Amino acid sequence: MIVGLTGGIASGKSTVSNFFKELGLEVLDADEIVKEVSQKKDTINKIVRVFGKDILDNKGKIIREKLRVKAFENKELLNKLNGIIHPQVIEIFVKKKKEISESSIVIFDIPLLYEAEMENLCDKIVVVYIKKELQIERVIERDKNIRELAEKIINAQMSLEEKAKRADIVINNNGTLEDLKNQVDVVYCNLQK
Ligand code: ADP
Repeated sequence: MIVGLTGGIASGKSTVSNFFKELGLEVLDADEIVKEVSQKKDTINKIVRVFGKDILDNKGKIIREKLRVKAFENKELLNKLNGIIHPQVIEIFVKKKKEISESSIVIFDIPLLYEAEMENLCDKIVVVYIKKELQIERVIERDKNIRELAEKIINAQMSLEEKAKRADIVINNNGTLEDLKNQVDVVYCNLQK
């Protein structure tokens, strides 16, 4: 069974993902796959064609922070970047889905699962939900972002309310880390049934 795990930026998805790992589940992390895909020569060339050479450092590597800021300033550029990266990432997930047996549970940890329309890859979808104000605070604290950028990133994503509506299972992360862990344990038990 493939369980999609998603949320919004700083909603607590990675924390939940780590709890699942501690419980022994295999987790395939879309962010890591994006990083691998982004380092391929062919991908870098495509990105430079859209964003220009100044997003490269002197070793020809992409300066991720610069790319991120540019992409979030311009919706069209963000769409183009997604158009380069997403199909390659989806291909890797599809391959994994074909490989795993039906009796095993694998978590597909995908921040933009709904935005990238990857629902069909998953048998069940878990959304980590958090109130917007708390989300803004956690982005500012974790990423040392100014409030304006934090809000911009959050507003570029589908709202967590909408994601929670579409989910099979909602994990509420407005409480403590202990509350969060307890909910993950319950979800884990239910997934085994
Ligand atoms: P995501 O992967 O969704 O971006 P993270 O799991 O990295 O989010 O969580 C965002 C930040 O908030 C991290 O610094 C994390 O340690 C912290 N955090 C997550 N859940 C809680 C919680 N319930 N209470 C306090 N801090 C939390």
